[in-house]
Amino acid sequence: MNKKNNILILPGDGIGPEVCDEAIKVLKHLNDIYKLDIVIEESAVGGSAYEEFGNPLPEDTLKAAKEADAILLGAVGGPQWDDIDYELRPERALLGLRAELDLFANLRPAILSKYLSDSSSLKPEKVQDLNLLIVRELTGGIYFGEPRGRSKSGDSAFNTMIYSKNEIARIGRIAFEAAQKRNKNLCSVDKANVLEVSVLWREVISELSEEYPDVELSHMLVDNAAMQLVRDPKQFDVIVTGNLFGDILSDIAAMLTGSIGMLPSASLNSDNKGMYEPVHGSAPDITGKELANPIAAILSVAMMLKYSFNMNEASSAIEKSIQEVLSEGYRTYDLEGSKENKLSTSEMGNKIIEKIK
Ligand code: NAD
Repeated sequence: MNKKNNILILPGDGIGPEVCDEAIKVLKHLNDIYKLDIVIEESAVGGSAYEEFGNPLPEDTLKAAKEADAILLGAVGGPQWDDIDYELRPERALLGLRAELDLFANLRPAILSKYLSDSSSLKPEKVQDLNLLIVRELTGGIYFGEPRGRSKSGDSAFNTMIYSKNEIARIGRIAFEAAQKRNKNLCSVDKANVLEVSVLWREVISELSEEYPDVELSHMLVDNAAMQLVRDPKQFDVIVTGNLFGDILSDIAAMLTGSIGMLPSASLNSDNKGMYEPVHGSAPDITGKELANPIAAILSVAMMLKYSFNMNEASSAIEKSIQEVLSEGYRTYDLEGSKENKLSTSEMGNKIIEKIK
């Protein structure tokens, strides 16, 4: 049987469906040009799934996610679901998908197009052509460690930061391999001056580096890494770190680029099956107004083609076309630029497709 590449789209809530529509248009266009043998399916997730099925991650959605080769998720959440039971909150669907599919590696590039260097909070020369990748461990560490809880009296509470050698090695491999495909520079971030778990982290990553002699490895304490990211972010190529530190550092890196609507992400398991999603949320303030920037979702498709399907040519075609559109001055409403070159969500999607050769 001819193996098709099955992609599941989970549009979710708010602007999720709007940006996914544009990503689907791009995927279908690439499928026609490059004959990618892609089959696209859609399922409900998040608040909209809760409304329809009483569950933010319905059984059918989970089954489809397990069967798919890759998943594109829009965004989940919104103020109308903020007060419902914690277990039924839209965001629980994300945690459920990550855990069920064992998506332990979160890849978040922070790339600033030279055409947008004015939108960063840092001086343009500090961020021009910034291109760094944060690899964050996603299913372990203090967010999942046991024991956790509250003391009987309620006067204290506790969590456990724990990593096994295997957990560190598997995220380490993803990071070394990513560095091999880039500038061959890896910085491992920990807090080895205070935490035993970080001492183990450093040992395992250092041992692993012997298998990747072409990659230059350095170690940095997390407080210094936060400072260096703001002082001189272009010194980094790939950063690898645990769940908690990665959560914080990847948001700092995202903000260096100035525009949350431009940032894609990938969460991978050990078979390179991935869930790809824009970094932004459901943006209830602009939902339904055609103001959402679809580029983060479209770049998430580019990551999907590269990491899950090894379709590097089609992936680069997306990146090139986005650069071309930006170089011609076209912008969505979240990006600085002249009024006459502002495009709506679907106009931006169409413009990107127009340039894909
Ligand atoms: P948000 O990312 O949704 O929005 C923050 C700001 O950025 C808003 O002003 C919004 O209009 C703007 N923005 C976001 N994406 C944009 C885009 N593509 N184009 C133009 N502007 C964009 O974050 P928030 O407001 O803190 O959260 C809103 C909801 O999204 C919450 O319910 C939150 O829990 C959820 N959320 C979901 C995810 C996810 O699904 N992965 C991530 C973050 C937040």
